[in-house]
Amino acid sequence: MILIVDDKKENLLSLQSLLASQGYPVETAASGEEALRKVLQTTYGLVILDVQMPIMDGFEVAEMLSGYSRTRDVPIIFLSALNIDKKYITKGYRSGGIDYITKPIDPDILLLKVDTLYKLYEQKRELNRMQVLLQQEVEFRKTAQQESHEYAQQLRAILESIPQIAFSCTRDGKIEYSNTHWLTYTGSAEYPELHPDEPDFASILDEMIHQNEVFEREVRMTKPGENSYRCFLLRAAPSYKDGKIKSWTATFTDIEEQKQSSRRKDEFLSVASHELKTPLTSIKGYIQLLERTLTEDCPGKLYVERSLLQIQKLDSLIADLLDISRIESGRMKLHRTTFPLDALVRRAVDLMQQISPDYQFRIEGKTDAVLHGDEMRLEQVLLNFLSNAVKYSPHQKEVVVSITTTNEGLVKVSVTDKGIGINKIDQQSVFDKFFRSEESIRNFQGLGLGLYICADLLQRHDGSYGVTSEPGKGSTFHFALPVIATNQN
Ligand code: ADP
Repeated sequence: MILIVDDKKENLLSLQSLLASQGYPVETAASGEEALRKVLQTTYGLVILDVQMPIMDGFEVAEMLSGYSRTRDVPIIFLSALNIDKKYITKGYRSGGIDYITKPIDPDILLLKVDTLYKLYEQKRELNRMQVLLQQEVEFRKTAQQESHEYAQQLRAILESIPQIAFSCTRDGKIEYSNTHWLTYTGSAEYPELHPDEPDFASILDEMIHQNEVFEREVRMTKPGENSYRCFLLRAAPSYKDGKIKSWTATFTDIEEQKQSSRRKDEFLSVASHELKTPLTSIKGYIQLLERTLTEDCPGKLYVERSLLQIQKLDSLIADLLDISRIESGRMKLHRTTFPLDALVRRAVDLMQQISPDYQFRIEGKTDAVLHGDEMRLEQVLLNFLSNAVKYSPHQKEVVVSITTTNEGLVKVSVTDKGIGINKIDQQSVFDKFFRSEESIRNFQGLGLGLYICADLLQRHDGSYGVTSEPGKGSTFHFALPVIATNQN
C-alpha cells in the first residue's frame, strides 16, 4: 500500500490515478497530521510526501515517521515544486527520506522510483521475516541440542548408577559408550572374552542385529588374565530412527549365583527324589503283600488299603520330582513306538474310574488314529489331565473325554470337568513350573508340576496344548498330536 500526502487535492488525485493505473494500492492524506494518523493504523510500503504543506511540512512528517519503530523503515519520496537548493535536498535525506523528486513531476521517473523503492521495501520486509524465522530456528536447535546433551548425560548417569555392566553401541555393535563396571571387568573398550564353548561376540551381535526387538541371551565371560567364567544375562534394547534400529543400549547382569543355586536345587531334587523312591518302592511292595494276606473281614484291611492309597499319592509326587530333574538336566528320554490312541484313552479312563469310583467318566468319539511316540508318557499326560479334572471338581463328579481327528492330520484329546474353573489370567500360567492358582493353594494339595511336565512331554511329541475355562463352571484341557496312520480294523 502506498500513501500519498499532499495538501492540494488536484495533486493527490493526479498522483493517485497515475499509481492506481499501474496497479498499486493507494491511499491519500491531505495533511501531515492525517498522514501520521494513517501510518499508525496501516502498514505502508512507500510514502510520497509533499514538502510544502501548511502547519506540518513534509520534512517534519518524515522526521516523525523515522521516530516510530513500525514506520522507521518505510521509504519516502519527497515531492517539491520549488527549484530547491542542495540544503533542502540534504535535509530531506537526513529526515529519513530515501529519494527526492522536484516538480513538475516526470511520471515515468516517478513510476520507476516508486517501483524500485516499493520492491526494495517488500524485499526488506521479507528478509526481516526470514531473519526472525531463522533466529527462532537457531534458538529451537540450541534448546534441542542442550536438551539432548542433558538427556545423554542423564542416561549415562543412570548407566553408571546401576550395578550391572552397561554399554551402548551402534546398530552393528560398535561400542559407543561403556560404564565403569565394563572397564573393571574387561580392562579395555573391547567386548569381554567369552567361554570357548560360546559363539564369539561377532555372531552374538549378528543374532542381536537380526532381532528387531529386545534381545536376551546368557553368556559366560571371564576377566582378562583369569580362567574362571561367570554366567551373565545379556539384555539389549534397540533405539529406532525412522523405523530402523539406530543403536542398542545393553546390560550384562551377573547371574552366576542364581545359576549355581538353581543347579544345587536341581541336584538336591534329583538326589532327594531318587533316595525317597527306593524305600517307598519297598514299602509299597510290602504293603501290597500284606493286603493280599488279609481276608475281606479282617479289621485291619481298611487301614492297609488307605495306606496304599497314600503311598500311591506319594509315589506320584516323587515321580513328578524325578521327571522335573530329568527335564532340567536334559535326561528326559522317550521310548517311541507306534500305538493306537483310542486304546490308550480307554486304558487311562478305566484306571481313573477304578481310582475314583464315585466319578462318572465318559468317552465321546472314536478316531482309530495310530500315533508314534512314547505311549507310557502320553498316557501319563492324559492321566494327569484326568486326575486334575477329578481333583478340581469336588462337587460335580462328571468328566468327559472327547477324541477327534482334525483335517490337518492331528488327533485332538480334550478332558472336560464341571469343577472350580480357572480365571482368564491364570489360564495363561497353568502350564508354568510351580504355578498354582490362589484357590488351589488354599483348598487343594499339589506341587504345581504336573501340567509343566505334560507341556514338556507334548512339546517333545510335536504336540500342542491349551485350556479353556470359566470360573465356577469348569475347564477343558486339550492336546493335539500328529497322526501317522489310521487303523481301519
Ligand atoms: P497341581 O495340581 O499339583 O497344583 P498342576 O500342574 O497339575 O499342579 O496344575 C497347576 C494348576 O493348574 C493347579 O494348581 C490349578 O490351579 C490349575 N488346574 C489344573 N487343572 C485344573 C482343573 N481341571 N480345574 C481347575 N484348575 C486346574
